[in-house]
Amino acid sequence: MGLDDITRRVSAAEIAAGRAPGSVTLIAVSKLQPPGRVEAVLAQGHAVYGENYVQEAQAKWPAWSAAHPGVSVHMIGPLQSNKARAAVALFDAIHTLDRVTLARKLAAQMAEQGRRPQVFVQVNTGDEPQKAGILADELPGFLALCAELELAPSGLMCIPPEGRDPVPHFRLLRRLAETHGLSGLSMGMSADFEAAIAEGATHVRVGSAIFGARAVG
Ligand SMILES: *Cc1c(COP(=O)(O)O)cnc(C)c1O
Repeated sequence: MGLDDITRRVSAAEIAAGRAPGSVTLIAVSKLQPPGRVEAVLAQGHAVYGENYVQEAQAKWPAWSAAHPGVSVHMIGPLQSNKARAAVALFDAIHTLDRVTLARKLAAQMAEQGRRPQVFVQVNTGDEPQKAGILADELPGFLALCAELELAPSGLMCIPPEGRDPVPHFRLLRRLAETHGLSGLSMGMSADFEAAIAEGATHVRVGSAIFGARAVG
């Protein structure tokens, strides 16, 4: 538990997988955490954070970013289309591009604001009806639309089905990314980030293992 421990485990997993040191970005997921815990991790010099809710992030990050230059904030939660403007203005990366309407809104906002956050396409690797994300079968068409819109996604993201072995989902995501020439793989959370790194994750999203249990949101 804690930033140092998780940072060490990320490094060890990189080495174990024969990956270059520093090739995995550790996103410290600060959603719903008491501010003091996040400030402690900021004070340790960690630079990359993840948030799930636009309003919560808008309330917290402008001040923290001003106090800690170089910090970046990634959106990892479901994004409503009517929050696209705020999301493009606030975030350095958006991991949850999961539908056509959102692709169009993000593209329009990026053009209007002249800001280009990194984009990851969320894939519903488990074909779960209640879960957001593009189905694997629909990914080629969706990526073609992204290209038309000049969204240039840097990679793919997944949240494997709860309570099941995540590894087949990490492998599927990697294979899809390779097929489409995408280098970014946003996968792995507190419980499985080492397995995700073994399968090629470039971005792991770790919350409770760094900050402790959070309020229910
Ligand atoms: C909350 C969240 C995380 C972090 O979860 P932990 O289990 O606390 O590490 C990672 N990814 C997404 C998409 C999340 O919503």
